[in-house]
Amino acid sequence: MSFKSRFRAPVSPLRRSFDQPSHRPTVAAMLRRDQPAEPVHCLRPQVVERAAVAFRAAFPGETMYAVKCNPEPAVLRALWKGGIRAFDVASMGEIRLIRTMFPQAAMHFMHPVKPRAAIRAAYQEFGIRTFALDHPDELAKIREERGGAGDLTLVVRIAVPKGGAAYDLSGKFGAAFRPAVDLLVAARAVAARVGVTFHVGSQCLDPQAYVRAIELASKVALRAGVRLDVLDVGGGFPVAYPDQVPPPVDVFGRTIGEAVARWFPDGVELHAEPGRALVAGGASVVVQVDLVRDGMLFVNDGIYGALSDAGVPAFRFPVRLMRASEAAPAPFGLFGPTCDSADRMNGPFWLPADVREGDYVEIGQLGAYGGALRTAFNGFDRARMVEVRDPPLLETPGYADAAVAA
Ligand SMILES: *Cc1c(COP(=O)(O)O)cnc(C)c1O
Repeated sequence: MSFKSRFRAPVSPLRRSFDQPSHRPTVAAMLRRDQPAEPVHCLRPQVVERAAVAFRAAFPGETMYAVKCNPEPAVLRALWKGGIRAFDVASMGEIRLIRTMFPQAAMHFMHPVKPRAAIRAAYQEFGIRTFALDHPDELAKIREERGGAGDLTLVVRIAVPKGGAAYDLSGKFGAAFRPAVDLLVAARAVAARVGVTFHVGSQCLDPQAYVRAIELASKVALRAGVRLDVLDVGGGFPVAYPDQVPPPVDVFGRTIGEAVARWFPDGVELHAEPGRALVAGGASVVVQVDLVRDGMLFVNDGIYGALSDAGVPAFRFPVRLMRASEAAPAPFGLFGPTCDSADRMNGPFWLPADVREGDYVEIGQLGAYGGALRTAFNGFDRARMVEVRDPPLLETPGYADAAVAA
C-alpha cells in the first residue's frame, strides 16, 4: 500500500476584471455597470504606490514590505512602482511569489520559527541570506540547513512591551533580555552579520514605542558586547481609521532616526517592515445589503471574508452608502453572510438612516489584512476584484501629497 497526501484546494481566487489603468472606473461607475451580487474588492494601485513613495521618503533606512499583509500581485506591482525593492517573507509561498514576480528583489526571511525544509530551500534555491530567530534551537537549525556557508545575516527578534498598538505581536515571538543577549553572542560567532529586530505591535499610534524598543535593542547589543550590523524596527506603522488619527508618517521617520542616532552612535544599517501602512488605503470592499433589522445590516461579506478585523478586534472602518440620500446618519452594526452568530461587526458604522435592502455600501481601509484573511467558510467564497481610480475613503496623515511618477 502506498499513501499519497494531497494539497487542499485553496479559497476560490478573487475573480479579477481589470480595466486599462487609464480607464479605471470610479466605484460608482463600476456598480452601475456591473450590479454585482458578490462582494467587490476595489483596488487603488495609485494609492498603494503613493504610500510606498511617502513611507520611503519619511523613513531613514531601507523599507521592506511585509508580504503577508496583502500578497495580491496588483498590490505588489504597485509597491514595486513606488520603489519597494525588498520584502519581508515568512513562508515558502511568499518566497516563491516574490521571486516569480520580481527576480531581482531582496528577500528577508523574518519568521522566527521556520520549517527546516523552508530554511534549506530559502538558502540554497532562493539565495536568501537574512534570517530572523528568537531561540537557540532555531540557530542550530539554520546552521545545519545552510550547507556550511558563513555568509548569513542573523537577526535576533527581541520581545518588546505592547505600548500603543492595537495588536500585541510579542505574545508569540521575541526573546526576553537575557536569552536575547545569549542568542546574539551565539549568532555573532557563526554569522557574517548580526542584527536585532522587534515588532511593537500592529497599528501602533505612539512613535515613542519605537524609541523604547530601539533603546532596548541597543542595551541587548551592549550587554552582549556585539556591534550590530542591522537594526530592523519591524512593522506596526499606523493608518487612519474613523476613530484613530495617527501622527504623520514623517514624525515616525524623524523620531526613529533620532533614536537610532542616539542609541547607535557608531551607525547601523536600518530596516523597517511596514505592512498595514503601505496598503491599508489601497483597497475597499463593496458589500450589498440583504436585509435590515433593528439597526443591523445583513451584508454579503463578514468576518470570514475580508472583514475579520471588524469582528472581535472591533476595528471601525470608514463606510459610505453608494446612493444619494438626504436621511440623517445613524449608527449601524453589520452581520456577515454566514450562519455563525460570531459573524457580527458592531462598529458602529454611520450610514444614512434610510439604508435598505439592495443598497451597496463601500467599506474602506481594507487593503491591509482584508482580502488576505478570506476563507471559504459556509460556501461564501466568491468575491470580485476591480481596479478603481477613487481616492481612499480616509487619508492617513502624510500620504496624500507624495509625488507619484506618471
Ligand atoms: C506582520 C508583520 C509585519 C507587518 O506588520 P504591520 O503591523 O502590518 O506593519 C512586519 N514584520 C513582521 C515580522 C510581521 O510578522
